Amino acid sequence: MKPAAFDYVRAGSVEETVSVLAEAAGDAKILAGGQSLVPMMALRLARPTVLVDINRIPDLDAVRRTDGAVEVGALVRHRDLTDQTEHPLLAEAARWIGHTAIRTRGTVAGSIAHADPAAELPVVALATGATATVIGPRGTRIVAADDLFVGPLMTTLADEDLVTAVRFPLPSRWGFAEFARRHGDFALVTAVTAELDDAVRIVLGGIGPVPRRATAAEAVLAAGGTAGDAADAAAQEIDPTGDLHGSAAFRRAIAAEMVRRALAGAGIGQGRA
Ligand SMILES: Cc1cc2nc3c(=O)[nH]c(=O)nc-3n(C[C@H](O)[C@H](O)[C@H](O)COP(=O)(O)OP(=O)(O)OC[C@H]3O[C@@H](n4cnc5c(N)ncnc54)[C@H](O)[C@@H]3O)c2cc1C
Repeated sequence: MKPAAFDYVRAGSVEETVSVLAEAAGDAKILAGGQSLVPMMALRLARPTVLVDINRIPDLDAVRRTDGAVEVGALVRHRDLTDQTEHPLLAEAARWIGHTAIRTRGTVAGSIAHADPAAELPVVALATGATATVIGPRGTRIVAADDLFVGPLMTTLADEDLVTAVRFPLPSRWGFAEFARRHGDFALVTAVTAELDDAVRIVLGGIGPVPRRATAAEAVLAAGGTAGDAADAAAQEIDPTGDLHGSAAFRRAIAAEMVRRALAGAGIGQGRA
């Protein structure tokens, strides 16, 4: 299929983007890497009447080390993440996204805004307590990843909002584990653990409509439990949905194993309780 007809605007600035989005009153879409939006348009699952291309906006493509965090501009590509060394967890997660062509075009902010339940970066965002800088018609605001993801491909962002950067705190210890049917496929289950200010977060992706914290598993660790105990708790607290890629029971078993591996990678919960 081909996309429905649309107008194309090449935005030169953040202000122009927000103004075109506001004028279109919900009918416009931002075009970043196009790796999710364009296939959806081709299938006519998305039919924006205006595409606002942000790729030529200056100064949105930097990866900056800030105080205890790494700030990633809206036009930073997945491949840029794999190449940087400031945030090793981000580098590792980005390696699991699709294939070279997708990583070369797809953007970090695009992945966060798109909110695919099986995507890697929303899981990392929630695990590290990331925040997005969002500019809309009423100005700039900071939105925490905890308040961002509300459903499959659904966020709390408004139609007129542009994410200009995402700030990912640097964990003192971290682990990443993913299970996919083939290399480059979307994850069946992703587990990310991150230690920040001595508190450990465990987040699972691919097991429901949004990435979710395994808070019971986190509590097990906080009480001195082992990684194995935490993995068992994580498997019990989630309510995975089954589909043709894997049953709910299969996902639950894989989730436990991914949590175990992520915690082993972080060196967390490896001693005796
Ligand atoms: C074959 C294939 C395999 C893939 N495999 C994976 C995978 O394994 N893991 C994974 O995570 N992803 C995967 N992807 C998706 C890829 O990561 C996308 O790059 C990403 O989801 C969206 O980023 P984008 O820059 O391409 O956004 P676009 O496709 O341009 O936009 C996606 C959505 O986000 C909005 N948007 C984009 N940028 C902004 C912004 N700055 N502010 C506000 N809204 C914005 C757009 O309006 C649109 O609604 C795959 C894609 C393909 C085609």
